Amino acid sequence: MSYSFDRSIAQFDRSKASLAGGVSTAFRAAQRPVPICFSRGKGSHLWDIDGNEYVDYVLGFGPLLLGHSPEPVLAAVEEQLRTALGFGASHLLEAELAEAICRTVPSAELCIISNTGSEAVHAAVRIARAATGRMRVVKFLGHYHGWLDTVHTGVAPQAVAAPATGGQDPRAVESVTVTAWNDLDALDAVLGDDVAAVIMEPVNVNGGNISPAPGYLAGVVEAAHRCGALVIFDEVITGYRLALGGAQELYGVTPDLTVLGKALGAGFPISAVCGRADVLEEVATGRVAHVGTFNAGPVCAAAALAAINDLEAGQTEIYPNLDRHARMIASRVRSAANTAGIPMFVNQVGGVVSVFVSDTPPSSYEATLKSDRAGTASFIAALLGQGVHAISLGRFYLSAAHDDGDIARTGDAIERALQGLQR
Ligand code: PMP
Repeated sequence: MSYSFDRSIAQFDRSKASLAGGVSTAFRAAQRPVPICFSRGKGSHLWDIDGNEYVDYVLGFGPLLLGHSPEPVLAAVEEQLRTALGFGASHLLEAELAEAICRTVPSAELCIISNTGSEAVHAAVRIARAATGRMRVVKFLGHYHGWLDTVHTGVAPQAVAAPATGGQDPRAVESVTVTAWNDLDALDAVLGDDVAAVIMEPVNVNGGNISPAPGYLAGVVEAAHRCGALVIFDEVITGYRLALGGAQELYGVTPDLTVLGKALGAGFPISAVCGRADVLEEVATGRVAHVGTFNAGPVCAAAALAAINDLEAGQTEIYPNLDRHARMIASRVRSAANTAGIPMFVNQVGGVVSVFVSDTPPSSYEATLKSDRAGTASFIAALLGQGVHAISLGRFYLSAAHDDGDIARTGDAIERALQGLQR
């Protein structure tokens, strides 16, 4: 099998003449050998404009937990497309969706609905600040909560807290304290009676797919509550992915507020903040502004409702399968790296696999900073030429659409890619 990317290369050149940087999310420019121009997806598979076929583990950067164009979601959306695109007013589906979120997410007593993860994080922080009357927010090094100024500091691959992009108002993160995750002493050292919220990814996927230490999540909730601060779990990646009720269900720890996005919409842009009714009262009373032209638009609401219903109905099969397939990929990477003599490590939690070319175990975000990022990206680039599309950071998202045949094919591709790199 030999893949050529000639048309993607030509398309990238064409795009750069009109689209700044030739891509629509800066990160996509990092794809090697070139940002691939895709034309079609179905289930677990993708096709590009050169006619190459791939098993897809990028899944739209996470949202496509049910695979590309899942039938139940398509059916609901197609019906809604013919019914109405938007009302700028109330409709039946928004309440049905809110009920489905409250039914499936342990912390959800009430919810609000937005469009993207970044927006929902912004809303959650605003609500926490209003509910506590405090301004300081504690976040953790290596945790990503969206691209807005409020929380864009201390994100991968930064080693310290600092504004993470040109054009960011540094004053926006002056009220954000960044500390080490998985370390209750480090948290205690920065907590105080001015802290509105402690926000975290309950599994630090963006910092290298790091699991919480036993007892850590409960310890954070206890410490935060002791000083009157709220806990926000940013479950934009882990929500509906690690379990129907997300990481909070998996680990049995309930935050005050939860942010959902990505898998919630099965590919459609929709997000939510859910949590304690007394905290979301801030929105219910109108004290906190939660507004937006597209909030809970009926097409996206129909998609999310169909996705939740599908996941709920299939949960006893879907979640064990995601975990089983992810473990199989992790194990093929470990054995193939061993055979090829390439130093590699794998972090796997449920349907998320993160691989690292590294001499030291990536057991914390700080440890992942010592990994060979270029080497990991070379492995992912080599996989592309073997018909496997994964995120250049070394991340694989599994979907309910992947079957045992996909995983076997991926395992063989991993072996060939690592043998090629060894040479
Ligand atoms: N929080 C987390 C944990 C995320 O991974 C992301 C996106 N990768 C966001 C928030 C922001 O979501 P969006 O890109 O939809 O704005």
